[in-house]
Amino acid sequence: MSKLFRMVILGAPGSGKGTISSRIVRDFGLKHLSSGDLLRAQILKKTEIGLAAQSYMKSGQLVPDDVMVKLISTELSGLNSSPWLLDGFPRTRPQAEALHNNQKGKDDVTGEPLVQREDDKPESVRHRLEVYATNTKPLKKFYEDLGILQVFHGTESNEIWPRVHKYMQGHILAKSGPF
Ligand code: AMP
Repeated sequence: MSKLFRMVILGAPGSGKGTISSRIVRDFGLKHLSSGDLLRAQILKKTEIGLAAQSYMKSGQLVPDDVMVKLISTELSGLNSSPWLLDGFPRTRPQAEALHNNQKGKDDVTGEPLVQREDDKPESVRHRLEVYATNTKPLKKFYEDLGILQVFHGTESNEIWPRVHKYMQGHILAKSGPF
């Protein structure tokens, strides 16, 4: 992998984003940054960011943009020149703009047990879907206008994955096959 490849993955809560992200990471060796995981780690460590984020997360609301931008910028600057995949960030247009400005001038281009998270309660899920429709859906337009949006349709991760893999293969060297 010679080129610095950076991508963000967008999708509604429950859309399979996490599954597709982990497969991209497995096959293409990108560093995976999940904003939700980063926030949960901050909460466990009881950091200032964790304390600021906790109440928003519990109720399925978005953590304020300034907190998120600070968190993600810090994480990205620690990655130096590794290719990365952002999952869960950006979620609002101001976050996308901050990320874009931050990246300007740089080189272009399971079997796990199911656990119910506190914010997976029906009320929170409903709220997260509303928040997604209001804040995150418009990001498609932001990236479309920049000419860097790639859309993959499908109803299951296994249906979407070969398409994502094929696209990725055209842009970055794979470590292994699609399955
Ligand atoms: P996730 O694990 O991606 O579903 O994120 C869980 C929760 O973390 C969300 O419901 C938000 O409260 C918060 N969160 C994660 N990423 C962001 C973000 N980019 N902007 C604001 N809040 C976020």
